[in-house]
Amino acid sequence: MLFLFLVILSFGGLGIFYINRLSSDAGMILKDNHISLEYCNHMLKALDALPDDRNKALALFEKNLELEEGNITEPGEQEATWETRTLFEQLKKDIPGFQNYRQLRRAIYQIEDVNQIAIVHKNQVALNTASRATLYLTAIVVILSIVAFTFVLSFPGIISGPIKALSEGIKEIANKNYSKRIDLKQKDEFGELAAAFNKMAEKLDEYEHSNLAQIKFEKGRIEAIINKMNDAIIGFDERRRILFLNSSAEKLFGLAENEIAGKYAPDIALENDLLRTILQEGGKEPLKIIANNKESFYSKELLEIKTDETIGGNVIILRNITPFRERDNAKTNFMATVSHELKTPIFSIKMSAQLLKDKRIGELNTEQSDILRSMEGNADRLLTITGELLNLSQIETGKIELTLKRVRPEVIVFRAIQAIQAFALQRKVIIRQMIESGLPEIQVDEEKTAWVLINLLTNAIKYSSDGGIVEVYGKKANDSVEFSVRDYGRGIDQQYLPHVFDKYYKVPGGFEKTGTGLGLSISKDFIEAQGGRIQAESQFGEGSVFSFKLGFAI
Ligand code: ADP
Repeated sequence: MLFLFLVILSFGGLGIFYINRLSSDAGMILKDNHISLEYCNHMLKALDALPDDRNKALALFEKNLELEEGNITEPGEQEATWETRTLFEQLKKDIPGFQNYRQLRRAIYQIEDVNQIAIVHKNQVALNTASRATLYLTAIVVILSIVAFTFVLSFPGIISGPIKALSEGIKEIANKNYSKRIDLKQKDEFGELAAAFNKMAEKLDEYEHSNLAQIKFEKGRIEAIINKMNDAIIGFDERRRILFLNSSAEKLFGLAENEIAGKYAPDIALENDLLRTILQEGGKEPLKIIANNKESFYSKELLEIKTDETIGGNVIILRNITPFRERDNAKTNFMATVSHELKTPIFSIKMSAQLLKDKRIGELNTEQSDILRSMEGNADRLLTITGELLNLSQIETGKIELTLKRVRPEVIVFRAIQAIQAFALQRKVIIRQMIESGLPEIQVDEEKTAWVLINLLTNAIKYSSDGGIVEVYGKKANDSVEFSVRDYGRGIDQQYLPHVFDKYYKVPGGFEKTGTGLGLSISKDFIEAQGGRIQAESQFGEGSVFSFKLGFAI
């Protein structure tokens, strides 16, 4: 833009300068010489009018001569004018006797000649100026055209060159070639941009190199840890292609990582039973795997790899839980044996206590009777505990034996209330029965269902305050009968409620020392084994409702 401005300015300036020069040259000719010719012309006409029109002619001559005297511009013009003046003065004095007309005319012609020569000369000067102007302007046009032409040719390059260099640089950076630099020597905005780009690339380069080594080191460490783990770990990408297997997984699946990495998992699973099993949904139950003629148990855990809220694949961890299983089985067997073995001696203690009470054997004093009652109470509690432990071992070994038969719901409620009547009396708790009349028969194991209801009632009484009320409901719910036990005791805090059916779980903060935390867990197993459902609702400080549903007999 600056260049174009300069072109216009110089061209215009030069043009104006020469036009002015030419016009001043022409003005000079007009002012200095042409007008003198006019005066001479008028003087000659005045001479021709003599002697007839004398006064008028003399006045005309006088006037033009005075004007000419005021316009002397050329060398020699002064002398000729003086001569004209001298001769004219002579003429004025004596017109009839004036003899020097020829001389006067020559003097006037002399003025004319001098001016005409000057006109020719000045015209030549003007012509020279014009041709110089043409020459200079043409030269300038040619030079400027050449400059403009080369500028036009190279202009796109000037603009696009740096842009191209910059865009190539950006592409290289996008391809992670952080060693790329742009070499622009310009000092304009492009130069600044290139310098900023180079600085950025330098920083990225530094960052890449400092981090890469760190990341490689960390990766190696994590790989080593994963490989050393006893759990079998297998990773998949989001398109279910196998990413990696650790050494435990290689052994377990009988596959080599380098052979299957990157392959579509379901394809490999076609020929690998174990992989097929673990790829299937579910997997809450431990997997039984027979390897090296040994039965092993694995629990499956599926972890999703999330990057920025999108799932980038997943990892399956197979944890070897065989040692835990073995210990658990040993515990269950031990529990079953001990509780079974304890039953007989406890019974015999109970029998002995009953015999002692017999008056035929001998009278007991009050203190002895109290001791005996406490002995019986403890023996009963021991029996309950051993009973629960036996039930649990049955459940854990998957050996719940059900004796299903058609039973009237009222019978179960009646049996349960009978069983806990003494305990309720002891705690002065009133039990209210709210059984709908005409309930249909249900298909259940009477013993176990009564056991569950007894357990719920025992809890309800246990956690009610002395003199409280416990209600037993029996009502129809769709195609089943719902039994509920409601108490107005201390209730259960919401945060503990979901755990009450867990094995050995006791709500924290309870004051009772008795209880194994097994009752509700066994109840749940018994009800579910019969195809029913059990649930708990409670408000802390207001009481609880435990209920279970069992299907009608068909
Ligand atoms: P336990 O044999 O110790 O009573 P349960 O499995 O029967 O074990 O009960 C688990 C826990 O649930 C108990 O420790 C008790 O804290 C709580 N619980 C059960 N029933 C009630 C109830 N009706 N009111 C308040 N808490 C209860």
